[in-house]
Amino acid sequence: MKAVVIRAHGGIDTLRLEEIPTPRPRPGQVLVHVRAVALNNLDVWARSGPPGGRPVYPWGRLALPLITGGDVAGVVEAVGPGATDLAPGDRVVVNPILSCGQCAWCLAGEQSMCTDYRIYGEHIPGGMAEYTVVPAANLLRVPDDVSLEHAAAAPVCFTTAWRGLMTAARLRAGEDLLVVGASGGVGTAALQIGRLAGARVLALVGGAGKAAKAAELGAVPIDRLTHPQFSAQVREITGSGVHVAIDPVGAATWPETMRSLRPGGRMAICGATGGERPDIDIREIYQRHRRILGAPMGSVSDFLMVMGLVFAGALVPVIHAVLPLAGIREAHRIFEAREHFGKIVLVP
Ligand SMILES: [Zn+2]
Repeated sequence: MKAVVIRAHGGIDTLRLEEIPTPRPRPGQVLVHVRAVALNNLDVWARSGPPGGRPVYPWGRLALPLITGGDVAGVVEAVGPGATDLAPGDRVVVNPILSCGQCAWCLAGEQSMCTDYRIYGEHIPGGMAEYTVVPAANLLRVPDDVSLEHAAAAPVCFTTAWRGLMTAARLRAGEDLLVVGASGGVGTAALQIGRLAGARVLALVGGAGKAAKAAELGAVPIDRLTHPQFSAQVREITGSGVHVAIDPVGAATWPETMRSLRPGGRMAICGATGGERPDIDIREIYQRHRRILGAPMGSVSDFLMVMGLVFAGALVPVIHAVLPLAGIREAHRIFEAREHFGKIVLVP
C-alpha cells in the first residue's frame, strides 16, 4: 500500500508516498480502507519536530518512523479474530482516543485522564495511508448520508472543542463566548458548537478574508491583525467581557484571552501552538475570580456526543480543501502558512 511514512524530522520536501506492506488485523483489530484523513497539528509536528524542538508533554519524543493521521474515516476491508461487531463494507470513523480501560479514570469514563492515555496516529500508526489497522472498539459506524470526508474532519477537533466548551466550561445559552484561533480546526468546531449551544460567539481570526468566513458562520469576527489588544474589542462588544473563552493557541494569545473574560469567566485551554509559557500577572486571574480549565481532547462520551451531532447534521465540519494523498506536501504547506479556514482533508 501507499503511505506517508515520517522517518526523520525535516522540511516539507521530506514528505513522500512510500510503498510498504499492507498491515494485517490481529485479534480484536480491523483493517480499514482509508477514504479520508484530516490533517492536524500533530501531523505537521511529527514531520517538522515539535515547536521549539521541545519534548511533547507528557509523552516526550515521538517514536519515528511513524505513519501519522489521527482523523480517519473509511470502509472496513477485513476483520481480525474476535472483532465480530463489524463486517467488510461497513463505513466507519476512528475514535483516536487510546486508553487502558482498567484504571480509575477509565472506569469513570474519563479516558483522556488515563495514566496510559495515548492517541491513534501519534503513538500507534495512523491513517495517512491507503489502509490502517484499528482496534475494533475504536470504530464507529458512519450513516450512509454522511460523507466520509466530513466524518474524518470531525473527531480530534470537535471532541476537543466539545470537551472544552461543554464538558469543562459548561457553556450555556445566552452566554458570550470568545473563540481564539477561530479559523483553525478546533476554532471552527468551537464556533459551531458555541452557536448550537445558543451562545453569542466572538471569533478571533487573522485577516479580513477569515473574518468574513467567520461572520458567514454566524460569529462576530475580531481581526487580531487590526486589534492585537483584542480584549478591548471584546469589552466594547460585550460590556464586561465574555463568560467563556477557548484558547488553543497559548502564550501568544493567553494574556489577552484572560483579559477578555468577565469576572468569574471560564477559559478552556487545549493547545500551545503559539508557545507554552505565557507572560501574565496571576493577580489578573484570581482577583477577577477567573477560572482556567485544562481540556485536551476528550473522553469517549465527548467523542460519541459530538459525532452524533455531526451525523444528525447539527454540526457540519468546515472543510478548507480536499486533496489526494499525493498532495501531502501541499497540505502541509497550506497548514504551516495558516492559509486554511477549517480542515484540510486528504483522500488516498
Ligand atoms: Zn486507563
